[in-house]
Amino acid sequence: MKALVKKEPGFGNLEIVDVEEPRPGKDQVKILVKYSGICGTDLHTYEGHYKVKVPVILGHEFSGEIVEVGENVTEFKPGDRVTSETTYYICGTCNYCQSGDYNLCSSRKGLGTQQNGSFAKYVIARKESIHKLPEHVDYVSAAMTEPLACAYHAVNKAAIKEGDVVVVVLGPGPIGLLTAQVVKTYGATVIITGLSTDKLRLEKAKELGIDYAVNIQEEDINSIVNSLTNGYGAGVVLECTGTVSAVNMGLELLKKKGQFVQVGIFAKPEILINSEKIIQKEITMVGSRSQKPSDWEPVLALMNEKKVNAKALVTHQFNIAQWDEAYNVIKSGEAIKVLLTPVD
Ligand SMILES: [Zn+2]
Ligand SMILES: [Zn+2]
Repeated sequence: MKALVKKEPGFGNLEIVDVEEPRPGKDQVKILVKYSGICGTDLHTYEGHYKVKVPVILGHEFSGEIVEVGENVTEFKPGDRVTSETTYYICGTCNYCQSGDYNLCSSRKGLGTQQNGSFAKYVIARKESIHKLPEHVDYVSAAMTEPLACAYHAVNKAAIKEGDVVVVVLGPGPIGLLTAQVVKTYGATVIITGLSTDKLRLEKAKELGIDYAVNIQEEDINSIVNSLTNGYGAGVVLECTGTVSAVNMGLELLKKKGQFVQVGIFAKPEILINSEKIIQKEITMVGSRSQKPSDWEPVLALMNEKKVNAKALVTHQFNIAQWDEAYNVIKSGEAIKVLLTPVD
């Protein structure tokens, strides 16, 4: 089968390669891939800033149909419409595995990074990672389950209550737009912020029913938040850009005892933040890493009940042989989410 393989470290080195069709192990399933999303991680891997085990087939956000199951698999059968968590291997014994926090297991191996992923015709996944698609979740939406689970994971790091809380999501990329939609389901007033270069994304946010989509280069975000909160400030900030200036803006916008959730990843891990704000306002700051098993069924339900529209973020589709085009369209800023399809 044809697969998009990261062959060597460094920039590029991503090629369509003919690889042997994989067979499922005893506790695994073989999935015919329908759609695979391009994630920020795939871009970082392509550009050589993110280390993966090479050679490896990239891609970890996908939907597909089961075509074969291992001898111990009774829960699934060929023909099932599914998506899969990215976890391929965990130790199963550490404290984090015991509590279902697989995203924190130090021995975890993920699809598309340490194990062959979904930019191919077929992918192998472990049965514990598989989720059947509810009736009203199509294959395009289902390829968005993983990023939506990441958004859900982040939102649940904060205690968001109906009505009284103004939540600011910094950054209208795919994760920001999904995060804002998840927050809306809690009944909070949601503001999403971006720059002039995010015009398309801010318009999408309005289309999706986000209360305020603010271009901070044209509007004064401080006065908007203050006027909505009687001068107190926002209850929660979810930072989805990974830029230092956004973090400091978020700390400024928060009310006393506000909650700050860091989702975006920074270019350099050490950053200069205004610690004074954290101390003087008694801000609670927490990081959010990826997603965990208990995030998956709730987000499939959110899509099934049409409470979150993940499909609306998909602006482009290409096949895996068109990687360069897909990459360029993302880099140019005209795309929000790009999906890839397999080739024969
Ligand atoms: Zn991802
Ligand atoms: Zn573990």
